[in-house]
Amino acid sequence: MATPKRYFVHTFGCQMNVSDSQRMSEVLGRLQYVPTSVCDDADLIIVNTCAIREKAEEKMLSALGRYRRVKMSRRALLGVAGCVAQQQKERLLKRIPFLDFVFGPDAIANLPEILRRVEQDRVRVVDTAWMDSEEYVFPRADAETARGKVSEFVTIMKGCDNVCSFCVVPHTRGREVSRPFEQILAEIADLAEVGVREVTLIGQNVNSYRGGIEFHQLLRRVARLPSIDRVRFTTSHPHDLCDELINAFREEEKIAPHFHLPVQSGSNRILQVMRRDYSVAEYLDRLERLRAARPGIAVTTDIIVGFPGESEEDFEATLELTRQVRFENQFSFVFSPRPRTAAGIHEKEWGPIAHQVKIERLERLQKVQRAISLEIMRQQIGREVEVLVEGPSKFDPLKRFGRTPENRTVNFEGDAESGTLTRVRIDAATANALSGKQRDTVRGPSA
Ligand code: SAM
Ligand code: SF4
Repeated sequence: MATPKRYFVHTFGCQMNVSDSQRMSEVLGRLQYVPTSVCDDADLIIVNTCAIREKAEEKMLSALGRYRRVKMSRRALLGVAGCVAQQQKERLLKRIPFLDFVFGPDAIANLPEILRRVEQDRVRVVDTAWMDSEEYVFPRADAETARGKVSEFVTIMKGCDNVCSFCVVPHTRGREVSRPFEQILAEIADLAEVGVREVTLIGQNVNSYRGGIEFHQLLRRVARLPSIDRVRFTTSHPHDLCDELINAFREEEKIAPHFHLPVQSGSNRILQVMRRDYSVAEYLDRLERLRAARPGIAVTTDIIVGFPGESEEDFEATLELTRQVRFENQFSFVFSPRPRTAAGIHEKEWGPIAHQVKIERLERLQKVQRAISLEIMRQQIGREVEVLVEGPSKFDPLKRFGRTPENRTVNFEGDAESGTLTRVRIDAATANALSGKQRDTVRGPSA
């Protein structure tokens, strides 16, 4: 019997890319390819790229440099997928002469044909066509690939119809298309069958979901599935945080008490140039209503520092907002000009911020956030928290690992099986993780 061909996928970027790489694996599995975790053994290498910041593109180039060697020594095929592929199309083949193919997020299902053309017709292929919104079909994930997992991501929509002036996503992921809710519920039921207990609904802008029902209705439907313990979602735009969604948090206990709500800046002036269409006061008002509906909810955010024209005063307003909201955590980035975005095109007119100033602001912001994160985590010491157990701890194989409803990481002494809901008494905390000892099990893995 011939040895099956091996593939290696290197994934950069967000959860959507992780989910797309999973779809690639499913397509390749049907072509009798098998996965390998060693790139030197691969007959096919795909780099699934991210274009959100310049650094992500640099990482792609350095990865391709490494894979070139494998290509030369084993005659492996080498392709680029994802947002850089969608953005640069043929230009990527010109820039990187050893590349065999380039394909965008809408062309994953065409992978068999792309590989056939590269291998048999011996041509270099670019497939970055958009699928029409009406024709777009969300592939149903193969639940078998999730066997053994406790928590899984489920795609509910693709693309983004917003026009934030810094963001490349609408150019690389196209218009919003929502997946029909019946398909989503069927996929989650399949996942529950193989042992998944927690799902995270993903999309660039999930609360503008329109797949037959509204997003808050979808959340309620998922939360009511008896075999699902927790439902999460990411990412939300503050202007879509409506009262119905807040009410769902009040009424459905299985909607996990964690909200990732990217604010981007604490200055109204900057928010306006970012085209975020909410003010700081509106953001705070929605957050207050959310916190009243679900006391103790953990709130995380994304922030960009050094946006063109950001004055010291604007930046201080971001520091002030961070202190006022007391975010559980934040992902903060320095502004990176992206092609075809308004802020990328007009950076010079709007007032570029020196690199050194950007870095210094980022460090100041992260220092403030780290102190708040640590305080919040230390408040957990002495408490008993409910943990959904995911497996052994990565840091200490003798310990177990899981997460609280607020999405706090917990490493603990105990023997609770993966998939169980277990109570853990917290005895130590860092800004990123809690540790403690197992008390009792609330629910077994297959209950
Ligand atoms: N859809 C989400 C939202 O509306 O907030 C954001 C998705 S984006 C993939 C993730 C984060 O990357 C953004 O929230 C923003 O903070 C950051 N980001 C996007 N474009 C950026 C840029 N040009 N420079 C720096 N950070 C950027
Ligand atoms: Fe980008 Fe704005 Fe869409 Fe988020 S909402 S993906 S930041 S354009």
